[in-house]
Amino acid sequence: PSHHAWDGNGAAVAPTPMPKRLEGKVAIVTGGARGIGEAIVRLFVKHGARVVIADIDGAAGEALASALGPQASFVRCDVSVEEDVQRAVDWALSRHGGRLDVYCNNAGVLGRQTRAAKSILSFDAGEFDRVLRVNALGAALGMKHAALAMAPRRAGSIVSVASVAGVLGGLGPHAYTASKHAIVGLTKNAACELGAHGIRVNCVSPFGVATPMLINAWRQGHGDDDLDLDITVPSDEEVEKMEEVVRGLATLKGTTLRPRDIAEAVLFLASDESRYISGHNLVVDGGVTTSRNLIG
Ligand code: NAD
Repeated sequence: PSHHAWDGNGAAVAPTPMPKRLEGKVAIVTGGARGIGEAIVRLFVKHGARVVIADIDGAAGEALASALGPQASFVRCDVSVEEDVQRAVDWALSRHGGRLDVYCNNAGVLGRQTRAAKSILSFDAGEFDRVLRVNALGAALGMKHAALAMAPRRAGSIVSVASVAGVLGGLGPHAYTASKHAIVGLTKNAACELGAHGIRVNCVSPFGVATPMLINAWRQGHGDDDLDLDITVPSDEEVEKMEEVVRGLATLKGTTLRPRDIAEAVLFLASDESRYISGHNLVVDGGVTTSRNLIG
């Protein structure tokens, strides 16, 4: 697709086709079956990458892969299980000529949202462990197996999805905040080590995006009922309502943060356009983490 282009005098010029920024590259996107991950998968495919969707949700992952055609495939993978991560990397290598250029650690869980679950005075140790295993250990295992696959070719980009809760306190349950700070820390540490192998490691930290994760959390609310919600496909009204809530909390007014905005930041860090950027946390938050008047 192309868009209208104008020269410096305001006269119309021939539209230029959108350059494909991941042409010939192979990427793995964890948690790619829905939400932010799905937007990353779609944008990567549009930019010419061959993409492996690695997710625990087989039905949604298979459906997305077949809708996107031969450039996409699905592999079942629980990122907190090392054999699964290794299998996903092996699958990408064997399917795409031994090549892995981009690994996106996007899979994540928020954890329970009840008042008791969210308090440091009453949180559950098992639940804390579960969130840390998926978000922090999952990202570390992704870095490990991606780097092992990338090192022989001395090139690669690892991009993790952290959160504004990885920068500031008070924005999520304790385990979630700890796990997202862990991703930012792991990104810096791994960047230090993997630079010697030509591998870049970065992360992206979104503010609120109206995905199933956020909508389920909002539905669960701040009450005492431990509803175990996981609505995979929210209605348009639910998405709009969630977007309205986020707009109310946002620093930047007049714009709605969408999954595509996060995907664009991930695409930049995945592509060669960011070839000298490593160890960076790119916040996509409309200024929230620099604001004195943060939420509430
Ligand atoms: P989502 O719940 O809508 O989608 C998450 C996807 O990850 C799902 O497809 C799910 O099946 C998959 N997944 C969950 N556990 C997994 C596991 N153990 N192994 C493999 N796949 C697994 O969430 P989202 O909002 O799209 O979130 C994506 C990432 O963005 C997460 O890391 C989240 O913490 C982060 N994030 C989201 C927001 C937001 O407001 N939505 C804000 C900041 C950061």
